[in-house]
Amino acid sequence: MITRLSTLFLRTLREDPADAEVPSHRLLVRAGYVRRVAPGIYSWLPLGLRVLRNIEAVVRQEMDAIGGQEILFPALLPREPYQTTGRWTEYGANLFRLHDRKGGDYLLGPTHEELFTLTVKGEYSSYKDYPVILYQVQTKYRDEERPRAGILRGREFLMKDSYSFDLSDEGLARSYQAHREAYIKIFDRLGLRYVIVSAMSGAMGGSASEEFLAEAETGEDTFVRSTESGYAANVEAVITPAPPERPLDGLPPARVLHTPDTPTIDTLVGHLNGAGLGRTFSAADTLKNVMVKTRQPGAQRWELLGVGIPGDREVDMKRLEASLAPAEVALLDDTDFAAHPFLVKGYIGPGSLADNGVRYLVDPRVVVGTAWATGADQADHHVVDLVCGRDFTPDGTVEAAEVWAGDPSPDGAGTLVAARGIEIGHIFQLGRKYTDAFALDALGSDGKPIRITMGCYGVGVSRLVGAVAEQSHDAHGLIWPREVAPADVHVVIAGKDAAIGAAGERLAIELDAAGLRVILDDRPATPGVKFADAELIGVPTILVVGRGLASGVVEVKDRTTGERTEVPVDGVVAHLNELCAK
Ligand code: ATP
Ligand code: MG
Repeated sequence: MITRLSTLFLRTLREDPADAEVPSHRLLVRAGYVRRVAPGIYSWLPLGLRVLRNIEAVVRQEMDAIGGQEILFPALLPREPYQTTGRWTEYGANLFRLHDRKGGDYLLGPTHEELFTLTVKGEYSSYKDYPVILYQVQTKYRDEERPRAGILRGREFLMKDSYSFDLSDEGLARSYQAHREAYIKIFDRLGLRYVIVSAMSGAMGGSASEEFLAEAETGEDTFVRSTESGYAANVEAVITPAPPERPLDGLPPARVLHTPDTPTIDTLVGHLNGAGLGRTFSAADTLKNVMVKTRQPGAQRWELLGVGIPGDREVDMKRLEASLAPAEVALLDDTDFAAHPFLVKGYIGPGSLADNGVRYLVDPRVVVGTAWATGADQADHHVVDLVCGRDFTPDGTVEAAEVWAGDPSPDGAGTLVAARGIEIGHIFQLGRKYTDAFALDALGSDGKPIRITMGCYGVGVSRLVGAVAEQSHDAHGLIWPREVAPADVHVVIAGKDAAIGAAGERLAIELDAAGLRVILDDRPATPGVKFADAELIGVPTILVVGRGLASGVVEVKDRTTGERTEVPVDGVVAHLNELCAK
């Protein structure tokens, strides 16, 4: 089929959309691939839908290749299954909840573990039925707090989600590995640069989990990797190596010092170093106590939480949130401080937190035997040599401090370097969380029930359109890898001459007959407008039929390299056929 730009439902834009922060968003809107309907909600226009469908096809092929069987669940779901697993409340404000006319509670599915588990339970009963991998490519709904970057973070988006059901942990490990390999094939075929990082399990609960991140400076995920080993992790999943505990004997006693006007770490360190204490302090010797409040899913009440981290680092809210999930986390505001007068802003120490029953979690570097300079719970006073395990006892540790490039790698080999990425896939050994909730058992050969173990695996299909565009564009427009491109060849009729028009038409027909997907720019527009649109739309090969025709040549332009080649008009179909087959 030839797609004619004279009739294609497409209007490209010369101006960037005002709300677009990242190149993929800008270009997908300008090139007429998507249109915004509401925040985080987009329509797919003809060219965009083609790219989306091409990506879907790659995902389906690789899922089918590992024995996945496609099914399709509704997006509109009853409350009960999600009530059973607790996710009706755990999902918090991210869940779209609605009522039907009879007052029944419904939701728009954010992910479908419950439905898959129930469905398998409904159909299968014997150990002989397992293992099984089921998947769907389906629209998901999440009321994201910050929808951004167009289709990269939508509130409605397309996801491939698959679920494996196995009789044993070894079986689960095999299903997980099969998905891992399928994902590598998918993302390789899409021409993406990506990393596989270990991931936090988040609200899902469970053990082994990895994310596939497309490398992009505009990505929302920060990941680190070791300079020396294969270690790579989402910063949310970085486990801070704890130093060994130290003996308490012989450590100097804690001392409260008058430290006027030292509400910040810098002012405190400056003061301590000028106080003639016989040693130098750095920010890393101070213990900064950051107050937050947390609220468990479904709870009304917020609870105070003190987070103690070395003073040279800031709290990374994403890491803290991931550590405390599914609880909500917020910083304290002035009203909160006013309501708790024992919190002396700028001078908070572990003492008042313990005295007032406030939970206190510390960075893993705060181990027994380490001595700290920290707040003394009265204005203008700090305490030095406050020793963990002697003078204060935290309620536990928390991964809240920011991770820095140059930090030692958690696996002990090398140091960390940081980069950013877009999460395009997530694989996860869920274990028995959902099969326990729904009592999904298979009857074993000995007549005893076997509790099934599960994996869940997601690919952000619509997000991938944005991720590919994010990695593959230039100042003029999109540059699609052939596998996902909306066409193979974009034929530009560059000139008003009837002979040029006729040759363009003929070549388009021949290319189409050869099995290539062709866009033909047969509009009456000027060559300049047509060239600009061709570059913006981003089909990998552009064929220009113009003045050269008089001397028997046409121009083939490679959108990726920018390279132009003159090719005899008689041989161009064979030439392009070969090019596209590569
Ligand atoms: P994120 O951390 O980006 O919010 P997530 O970890 O919540 O994603 P999963 O539940 O693992 O997402 O969903 C599987 C995949 O679905 C993700 O790897 C991502 O590619 C895609 N995805 C998740 N949320 C969105 C969204 N709001 N818009 C588009 N794609 C999304
Ligand atoms: Mg994820």
